[in-house]
Amino acid sequence: MRLSRYFLPVLKENPSEAQIVSHRLMLRAGMIKQSSAGIYSWLPLGFKVLKNIENIVHEEQVRAGHIPMLMPTLQSADLWRESGRYDDYGEEMLRITDRHGRDMLYGPTNEELITDIFRSHVGSYKDLPLTLYHIQWKFRDEIRPRFGVMRGREFLMKDGYNFDIDYENAMHAYNRHMVSYLRSYERMGLQAIPMRADSGPIGGEDTHEFLVLADTGESEVFYDSAILDLKIGDRVVDFDNWDDCAAICKEWTTPYARTDETHDEAAFNAIPEERRRTSRGIEVGQIFYFGTKYSEPMGATVQNSEGQKVPVHMGSHGIGVSRLLGAIIEASHDDKGIIWPEGVTPYHCGIVNLKQGDAEADAACEALYASLTALGLEPLYDDRNERAGGKFATMDLIGLPWRITVGPRGLKNGVVELTSRRTGESEELPPEQAIEKVA
Ligand code: ATP
Ligand code: MG
Ligand code: MG
Ligand code: MG
Repeated sequence: MRLSRYFLPVLKENPSEAQIVSHRLMLRAGMIKQSSAGIYSWLPLGFKVLKNIENIVHEEQVRAGHIPMLMPTLQSADLWRESGRYDDYGEEMLRITDRHGRDMLYGPTNEELITDIFRSHVGSYKDLPLTLYHIQWKFRDEIRPRFGVMRGREFLMKDGYNFDIDYENAMHAYNRHMVSYLRSYERMGLQAIPMRADSGPIGGEDTHEFLVLADTGESEVFYDSAILDLKIGDRVVDFDNWDDCAAICKEWTTPYARTDETHDEAAFNAIPEERRRTSRGIEVGQIFYFGTKYSEPMGATVQNSEGQKVPVHMGSHGIGVSRLLGAIIEASHDDKGIIWPEGVTPYHCGIVNLKQGDAEADAACEALYASLTALGLEPLYDDRNERAGGKFATMDLIGLPWRITVGPRGLKNGVVELTSRRTGESEELPPEQAIEKVA
């Protein structure tokens, strides 16, 4: 992409409405624009990162054997009356009446809708296990939408639902989700800690939240610092293997890690003092096992191997896709701007032409652009007629991992300058070597 042809409306001033750094930086970097309280337009740069995060989530869900689909944002109230949640959900639910006077709602979550799909089409244990998921906009009329996309009213969520014949199978689904979530967050350059949590209005028995540590997080969390050393890394996970998945979950759930809702002072104090940590955290996902809470009232049953009709065991599993942009920025920025992890960055590398219009500099930038593109990378070339200081400030603000700076003086010696956004370190080297390092 050439910046002269892009739409990147960066702001020079700090927007006064933003209280936390990720919101401020997303506005300044021209990623989002508020359309009304808690509802945002995703401008091209923000949209690109949103799609990258969405892709990681899709890839990891498919890898775990889960099946993508898409359900609508608008739902009929009738299904929610069947489960009893139409009245229970309260004011967070946006209720709409259509022209025929029918009660509708903008879905805050999809347990009812997916259970209805399941009961219409599945009748035998032979069709299980089954996990369906989608990535779709949700609406919750939050009492205090704030912090930009972190607590929006309209937000993008991945929500998945498992259907299993019994508790043991459902627990494998639960573990599979935990492992796939750990992999997803790690690919986004994030450390998200699974913490024993409270089940809230979804209801249920087993549940973990995934929290990213950040001072601006809304949850208070308590954990054993030993958990910070755990990594999935490049180990190969067999998602069909119950023991494999269970072993990884055991590794991550053995060190103490809880939110204030389930915090147990005595268990916490049993950790060696130097490893006890109290902090704030951002909830970026949650997994639930809730058994037959929806299948029973809604009649989602299957025939078991003895020919009896039994309600299916279910769980639901959510990732806050749009909230993750804020969480990643909270965890990765400095006073100049965002520092994107490689896995989600909107462009791999910026090219800054110090002297636009200089035949040699222009040609060198074009050659770099072509070579990087041929390697399957996406460079963002600042080809505008601006001064160098302004170009550097924009690149720092939007946080691409690498910047290649090209100017007539360096070119005389056959070199360009390669700068790492994370370390700030620069080196001069021939263009081919700069390309190698970026790739
Ligand atoms: P919170 O405690 O922050 O209100 P929640 O527990 O109500 O979140 P869940 O029902 O567990 O949310 O939804 C799954 C995920 O969706 C959450 O872990 C979070 O990452 C994301 N999410 C929930 N509410 C919002 C929101 N208002 N804006 C953006 N993301 C959200
Ligand atoms: Mg909530
Ligand atoms: Mg919560
Ligand atoms: Mg939650």
